[in-house]
Formats: sequence, structure tokens, C-alpha cells
Amino acid sequence: MDTKRFHVGTICTVAFDRLLDPFGISPKNVLLDFMLDGQLKKFGMELSLKECRLHLFDAFPWLKTVNHSGLRLKNLDAWLSAMEKIHGQFLVVRKIEPKNYILIPLAISVDDAREYGCPYCGAEFFPLNLLLWGGDCQSMLCPQCNRTYIVLYQGVTKSFLEILSYHPPLSPHPRRKKTSDPTTDVDMRIVGRVTT
Ligand SMILES: [Zn+2]
Repeated sequence: MDTKRFHVGTICTVAFDRLLDPFGISPKNVLLDFMLDGQLKKFGMELSLKECRLHLFDAFPWLKTVNHSGLRLKNLDAWLSAMEKIHGQFLVVRKIEPKNYILIPLAISVDDAREYGCPYCGAEFFPLNLLLWGGDCQSMLCPQCNRTYIVLYQGVTKSFLEILSYHPPLSPHPRRKKTSDPTTDVDMRIVGRVTT
């Protein structure tokens, strides 16, 4: 299931990072974990919240117009009732596809970066010289799609660069063609690769 219904208060709790949920704090974690396909623990609360907020504001543009500054515990019920009336009690939330993550960057191998380019748009920009001065990984900004990804040297399975205490692990390049022929170059490299 790629979609799930959540209470408007749960959505606001994540969007505004303050407890506005009639069911308490736990639905917030359920929502984050759902949107991130069960990876809330892996990414950590801070990064998960930031990532999910961006997608919720995208999915529900009316969130930008919600005023919650004067909200206190005593008027929370009335505020929630109004929100339910205007936007609906339960709203359909979509799981985020990993290729659409905004803040959580993919980490790909140097071989995949050379062969398939940017993991998001496939742009074949790859300044090899950047990787010659050493280190285990390199943060890359794609000039075409403007997104950041991490390139890992051969044998490195986890980024040493930290994004809000998350170290992106080596991921298969999303643009790599799936092939069942084990004699091709592509498959030989997959077989030989250490993955986490
Ligand atoms: Zn790109």
C-alpha cells in the first residue's frame, strides 16, 4: 500500500513540528515511518521530520496558509474541529519514493556514477578529478537537476559524510538496467560489490 489515511491533526503535528494531534504523540511516528517506508529509525527523527514536512507541504498546499501561532491547549479542540471541517478529518498520505527524497541523499558507487551519471536525472557530469585527491566519499551537486548525492569509493559501503546524524549507505544506482545475464560487465560488478 502506497497510501494511508491520517488525521488532519497528525499531519499538522508533523508539518508544524508541534503536538496538535487529538490522539497524542504516537500517530506522528506512525506517519513518519509510513512516509519513509519503515525507515524512521534509520534516518533519525530530525532528518525524517524535515524530509516529511517538505512532502506534506507539497501534497497539501493549504498547510502554508494555516495559522497556528495563537493556538493554546484550551482552544486546541475548537481549532481541530475547524480544521476537520475545512480540510477533512482524515487525509490520504502518500509514501515517498526514495528517488524523490529531497534531503536524504543517495550514496552510489564511483563505478555507477561513472557509468550512469546522476542517480536522479542521469546527467553525465562527472568531474573525475574531484575524486583523485583522496578520501572515501565525495558529495556531488548535479548541475542539471540541482540535487545532491554522494559518491563512494570502491569498497566503501557507507558515507563518512553525515546528514543530520545519518550516514547514507551504498545504494544500487536507480538507473542501472536490470539484466539477468551474469556475463555482462554490469552484473559482474554487482556480484563483486559489497552492499550493506
Ligand atoms: Zn541530476
